[in-house]
Parts: sequence; C-alpha cells; structure tokens
Amino acid sequence: MNTKEYIQNLRDELREHNYNYYVLDNPTISDFDFDSKLKELQDLEAKHPEFYDANSPSLRVGGEVTKNFNTVVHEHRMYSLDNSYSLEDLQDWEARIKKMVDGPIQYTCELKYDGASISLTYENGSLLRAVTRGDGMQGDEVTANIKTIKSVPLQLKGSYPAKFDIRGEIVLPFEGFNKMNEERIDIGEEPYRNPRNTASGSLKLQDSAEVAKRPLECLLYNITGDNLGIATQMESLEKARQMGFKVPEAAKLANSIDQVLAFVNYWDTERHNLPYETDGVVVKVNDLQQQEELGYTAKAPRWAMAYKFKAEQVSTRLNSISYQVGRTGAITPVANLEPVELAGTTVKRASLHNSDQIEKLDVRVGDEVFVEKGGEIIPKIIAVDFTKRPSDSQPTQYITHCPECNTPLERLEGEAKHFCPNYTGCKPQIVGRIQHYISRKAMDIEGLGGETVALLVSAGLITNYADLYTLTKEQVMPLERMAEKSAENLVNGIAASKQIPFERVLFALGIRYVGETVAKKLAKHYKSIDAIAKASQEELVNVDEIGIKIAESVLAFFASEENIHTIEKLRSFGVQLEVSAEKLANQTNKLENQIFVVSGVFETVSRTELKKLIEDNGGKVSSSISAKTSFIVAGDKMGPSKKAKAEKLGVPLITEQEFLQKVL
Ligand SMILES: [Zn+2]
Repeated sequence: MNTKEYIQNLRDELREHNYNYYVLDNPTISDFDFDSKLKELQDLEAKHPEFYDANSPSLRVGGEVTKNFNTVVHEHRMYSLDNSYSLEDLQDWEARIKKMVDGPIQYTCELKYDGASISLTYENGSLLRAVTRGDGMQGDEVTANIKTIKSVPLQLKGSYPAKFDIRGEIVLPFEGFNKMNEERIDIGEEPYRNPRNTASGSLKLQDSAEVAKRPLECLLYNITGDNLGIATQMESLEKARQMGFKVPEAAKLANSIDQVLAFVNYWDTERHNLPYETDGVVVKVNDLQQQEELGYTAKAPRWAMAYKFKAEQVSTRLNSISYQVGRTGAITPVANLEPVELAGTTVKRASLHNSDQIEKLDVRVGDEVFVEKGGEIIPKIIAVDFTKRPSDSQPTQYITHCPECNTPLERLEGEAKHFCPNYTGCKPQIVGRIQHYISRKAMDIEGLGGETVALLVSAGLITNYADLYTLTKEQVMPLERMAEKSAENLVNGIAASKQIPFERVLFALGIRYVGETVAKKLAKHYKSIDAIAKASQEELVNVDEIGIKIAESVLAFFASEENIHTIEKLRSFGVQLEVSAEKLANQTNKLENQIFVVSGVFETVSRTELKKLIEDNGGKVSSSISAKTSFIVAGDKMGPSKKAKAEKLGVPLITEQEFLQKVL
C-alpha cells in the first residue's frame, strides 16, 4: 500500500468510528485508540500536504477563523411552518388539504427540536457548504464551524444523489449545556440562558476551534433536491440514515389525525426524557407527490404543520425578591415564588438574572408571574400577568447596598450585574472564595466540604484560604456534626493539598476569568507566582490566549495588599507557588519571544518532539509562515510553496541540527 492509500484508509477508518460514536451512539474503539489513530493521520497529513482533503476527519478540531460570514442564497427556500395548538387546528388543516388532493393521506410525525436550523449541501458525497436559515431566502455560510460537529458527515456512506440539500437542526444537549455553564460559573462568568440560543450563537463564532469544544449535535430531517428517487418523507428519513446522517428515531407514520394526536400526546410527556429540548411535533403529508400538488402559501408549505406542545409554563405568585452575593461579589436577584408544580418538580425559586431583566419584565412583588422551565437547572420568569396586578403595586426598586455587608453596590461599564466591592469583609465572598479553593478541580481537599467552610468562617476560625493551614483538630472538633475522626481527616486533607501542583493552586486562588485552562497557560509561561505578579499588562496579553480582560483581572488581583499577604501566608505553609523543579529541569526560556514554523520530515526527533522542545524552551510554534516568524525548522521534503514564502518574507531556514544546537 502506498502512502496515499494508507492515508485514505486511515481517514475511512476514523470516519467510521466517528459515525459509530456520534451518530449511532455505539463506539467500537476506545477513546485512546481513536486519539492515537487521529494523531497518526495528523502527522501523516502534515508530512504530505499534497494529499490534503478538505473533508479529512483530522479537520474536526477546527482552527479556521472566519471574520465575516458570507451570505449565501438558498437554492431551495427554507420555509417556516404554520403552527397549530389543538386537535381542532389539525382537523381544520386536514379538511383544507383533503379538498386539494385525491385519495387517502398519510402523515409523518416527527419531533420538533429546539435549536438552530441549518441547510447542508452535499456534492458527490462530500459536504460542500453549510448555511444558516437566515430569513429563509438567504443565510450565512458557516461551513468551517459545522465541520467541527462530529455527527455531521463530511463524506457520505453508500449511494447518494449527485447533489442535494439536507435540512436539520443544530442542538446543544442539556448535559453539555449544563457542563458549559458550570465552567462559566467557575470563572465568574454569567451562565448562558438556554441551549437554543447557545447553539445558534455557536454557529456564528469566528474561531472554529471554539465551536469544536462545544458538544453540539446535528439532527437531520429533510432532503431536498432534484431527481432524488424518493417517494415519501419516511423514505427520505431512511435514505438520510443510510447516507450516515443522524436522523432521530422518533419519526412515525400516521393514517389519521387521531393517530397524529396519539403521537403528540405520547411525546408531550415522554419528551422530558430526551437529551435535547423539543417544543412540538412536525406533521407532514408523507407522499411527496401529494406534497407537490399541495404546494406553498406565501410563507409556508401547505403540506406541513407544526404542532406546538403547550409550554411547560405555570403562573404563580411572586412572594419576594432576594439577592444573592457570589464569590466574585456579583449580585443575582432571585424570585421567591409560591410553590407550584412544573414539569414534574416543585418550583419555589426562579432566576431574575440582573436589574435590567427586572426592569424589562417590570416584575413586582405580589405579581402573578409566568414561570417556564427549559433545560436550565433554575426555572425562569418569562412574563407578568398584568391583569392580576394589585392596584397598590409599586415598581421594584433594585437594591443599592449589599444585602450581606451593606456596602454600596457598583456596576461597571458594560457589565450586566451589580457588584459588592467589599472584597475582604463581605461574608459570602469570603466563604465563596474558600469554597472555590477547596473544590475538586482546584485543591481538591478531602474531608472538607462547602458547608463546613461556612461554619469555619462563621466561627471566626478562618477569614481566607491561607488560614485553612492553621486549623488544628482541637479547633475544628466543636463544630456541628464534627467527630474526632472527621476532624482528623479534615486537617490531614488540608495538609495533603500542599502537594497540589502550581497550575492548580493558581486556579484555586479564584482570580476572576482565570479558569483551569488560563491557569495552565500562565503557569507554563511564567513558572511562578512571583513572575506573574510582576508581569505588566502588556506582557500578559502577549501570552498565548490571554486577552485584555484576563490581564486586567490578574493585575487587579495582585494589586491588592490583602491578596499579596494571603499568598505570602500560603508560601510560609509550603503550598506550591512555582512549577516544581522536576518539571522545570526540562524547561528553559532560551527561545523566548521566538516563533517557529516546523516543516518537512526530520531524522533525529519527530515533529511532535520538535514542537515540544520549542515550547519547553519558551518558544512558540505556529502553523503558517508570516513576517512574525523567527525561524523555519526545515526538514527533508519541505514544500516548495513554503520555501518560496519564507524567501519572500526573509524568514531564515535552519536545519534540524542547527535547531538542536540552540536548545541542547
Ligand atoms: Zn457585600
């Protein structure tokens, strides 16, 4: 087998695994084995740019940046559907269409997923482009972003029409949505409101590598095109499945409107067990010939009807509004409701997000409000029933002072939330910071939980996370529910955290916007807390992926005397405030501020090793040659176009040996 065939086989194999995993939910290979094969493909493709394939499974990780999305006219218009809300509506619809076509009518019933509509065009079995719905006539081309969604086939299976469009919905499953929000809350960012908007926002991100990180899925439901050789909607779904698309299994054929209604009633409750948000059922005339006879109105097909589930919505009384103070000092207003049943749970509270939201809804204590529950953990108030507003009702006055420490609140330019600036004296901020410090992803302190932290602060035993290391068994034992054994575990767990590596300590400090990834980047670049503390804003933003917002936040953190004092205390207790000597032994900053491009095949080290050597020695690896490139490490078989570009820009080429002399 020659290299070209080998690469092709590897791509086919990875495609099949992607299909098994993301479309069939039935992986037949371990993640580790998959990653190894993918790595092999990436290395081979880098060595052999002549075998480039825009639809290679290696391109799923994204990386392409789109500054402006092209507008593309849909070859077949993306219509919206007429809505129905009752059996009568459906019966009226049936009566209308029965006058227009002869013979019996069968219907397909499919679930209507709440996401972002997308149209994919395939030509000769390859994904040509992906376009958002837009206004139905034209949308934005988002191909680079869609390619990162693993359930979208880049290459079709079996037989397929030469060219066709397939429509579907990009959805964000609840599980992935909630996980994304946990991460955002971790770094003090406002959580996303709902899966639908997050999915549709994802499609318009400029950096496709960011899209690749989001657990989006693509559910398909409709093939359009000419000469498709399909007679019914059911066949169309089956055909799509055979070509390798993810087509929901719930679709069913109905012989009457009564059967349609049975489908609706079944899914009205069963949908709560689905991993995605659904808001109704789409009913279509199954026979495509009949569909054609029925045609379209100005805005919708006559042969289809959306049946909307009644929103999971109830109305209840707003008893009071309370205000929570987060670890970063952010204030979140919470509605306390008269308890009410909603989607199988009792709802007592709902989020109001911020003062703008309260103003927008004009929500007041004593109001009857509509509460809705989507995929979010906390339900939300969507409107006020103004007909029931008491005559003596007063507009809500947003608080001006912290409910916990009475400090006047601040609201920064461009921020939706108010903040309590009392960093050192506001109890929920103190407790919240320590809770973050001990959390699993940070210092992971065994034997110490969030409630105990609150008790320790209330008892005056600790006021910051450094104080944890002063605690003794005797001090802790009198606390509620604390036995000798658990007190011992707690003290031991705290002592053990002194071994946690620097990058996690840095995350644990709770610097706003410094999440796990950013902490790793900073630790790797600066190697110690002292170096980070000394860095200027200009230096910080020069670090890969560190933006102005993060840099400002880091500077503000180290500008606080209180924080410097706490860090000194952590140091005195032996907490890791620098990258360990062992890790450092292999690292230098010999290549600081130098950008390398690696090209070709090498003799003594692999490309991966070469890149690691560059990074470990403080250099940066870039994939494309620009005026900023310092050196090109040129191996055997370096591409001629790269060589020409390097010459044109005057970037020096060095050999593998010359490079190794720089670092060894
Ligand atoms: Zn406060």
